[in-house]
Amino acid sequence: MEEARHFIGGEWHAPAGGETIPVLDPSDGQPFAQLARGTPADIDLAVAAARRAFNGPWGAMSAAERGRVLYRLSMLVAARHEELAQLEARDTGKPLRQARADSAALARYFEFYAGAADKLHGETLPYQSGYTVLTLREPHGVTGHIVPWNYPMQIFGRSVGAALAAGNACVVKPAEDACLTVLRVAALATEAGLPAGTLNIVTGYGHEAGAALARHPGIDHISFTGSPETGRLVAQMAAEHHVPVTLELGGKSPQIVFADADLDAALPVLISAIVQNAGQTCSAGSRVLIERSIYEPLLDRLATSFNALRVGPSQADLDCGPLINAKQQRRVWDFLSDAQHDGIAMAGHGEVVADAPESGFYQAPALLRDVPRTHRLAREEVFGPVLAALSFDNEDEAIALANGTAYGLVAGIWTRDGARQFRVAKRVRSGQVFINNYGAGGGVELPFGGVGQSGHGREKGFEALYGFTVLKTIAIRHG
Ligand code: NAD
Repeated sequence: MEEARHFIGGEWHAPAGGETIPVLDPSDGQPFAQLARGTPADIDLAVAAARRAFNGPWGAMSAAERGRVLYRLSMLVAARHEELAQLEARDTGKPLRQARADSAALARYFEFYAGAADKLHGETLPYQSGYTVLTLREPHGVTGHIVPWNYPMQIFGRSVGAALAAGNACVVKPAEDACLTVLRVAALATEAGLPAGTLNIVTGYGHEAGAALARHPGIDHISFTGSPETGRLVAQMAAEHHVPVTLELGGKSPQIVFADADLDAALPVLISAIVQNAGQTCSAGSRVLIERSIYEPLLDRLATSFNALRVGPSQADLDCGPLINAKQQRRVWDFLSDAQHDGIAMAGHGEVVADAPESGFYQAPALLRDVPRTHRLAREEVFGPVLAALSFDNEDEAIALANGTAYGLVAGIWTRDGARQFRVAKRVRSGQVFINNYGAGGGVELPFGGVGQSGHGREKGFEALYGFTVLKTIAIRHG
């Protein structure tokens, strides 16, 4: 039984401090499980176990063998698809079908990186006559992974899948609010053939176990997904030992809708990009920028769709589940009460179903119209199901609006004009651009990451493997 224990060196360990953390079901706010409360002593054990695996059997494995282990892990995850989805839904509150998509994505991450493991290689470089120069892509060694609660399985899979494929041994600190599936998957690691210590999970609070990991001198790379504030702290702690970091810190991603767009195609995507996971998605499309000539008609259609959205427990599998916890609920309420105070009109809103438990952390999705571009609702990440609508008059203004936040993670562009698609895509400051579609959270194969306050470094796709390796140049003089 993995509950309330860490997974270290291939075994289940009771927390060194002997304390546990209750896990609440966001759908009813009631505790249903316990996590081990990790301390620096647990992190020390995990880092030492990872180092032994890296210096031992894992480090000695060929890339092809590593790929086979990851492939077996993907098959084991796929075989437990429904069990993992049910647990993820309960733990995070997300509707079941969204948790099923996450479970499928987790298997796919391991499958993708299984195939990539033995295709990662260096180059030979032209140099002076009499020399041969080559580069090797080597693993960092022991990598630390700090994972948030919004997509425990997906973010664990994308980060650890790439790190393992590149040959690193991992220590993971998942989020205290939701991480039971991560523990369940760790239990499969040994069965898949991962040598003991290659993958270690220490649960606990961020300021305790998370900080102990970020500042640990035995860590060679840190990958963090979460808030910009915590990301800054993690980067500062890692800098003490000059440890490289990959930061994925969220966004205020725009969806730009021009007057010539196919609105029938755009409408459901505009809605799902903000309602998915109750808006608690780093790449949520949380601003819709609409060309003035279609502003009112599109807003009417959006409002009608918002008014039909139903919110309820994860098991009810409605459009939207609860938020993760009471703190997140208060955060969203704060934004909405600011909007009300500042006279921003609510154009449409969903409804929490009558039989949703009152103790759950529910928030009806809200569509806000004519949000002033300087207002915090147009600039800050809410991390809830709140869509801010703004209008623009021309392409330049659309781009200025799109680029008018400190973030730059994802942008959506809706237009039938092919030249405009490229013009706008090139001028938008963002790590990913979707044209006539939008991939909130999706795309195992697609490099993903931000600029500015959204962070730096790339996860997903083949690109992530480069971040989990260091390049060594070897120059041979042979005459
Ligand atoms: P957070 O950034 O504090 O937590 C993310 C992870 O970092 C968790 O595993 C947490 O335990 C860990 N952590 C927290 N403090 C730490 C520290 N001092 N040292 C090391 N690790 C630490 O996020 P939160 O408090 O759960 O949520 C706050 C806000 O962050 C949200 O409202 C949202 O805006 C944003 N957020 C973004 C993402 C994303 O995917 N980009 C995910 C979660 C939260």
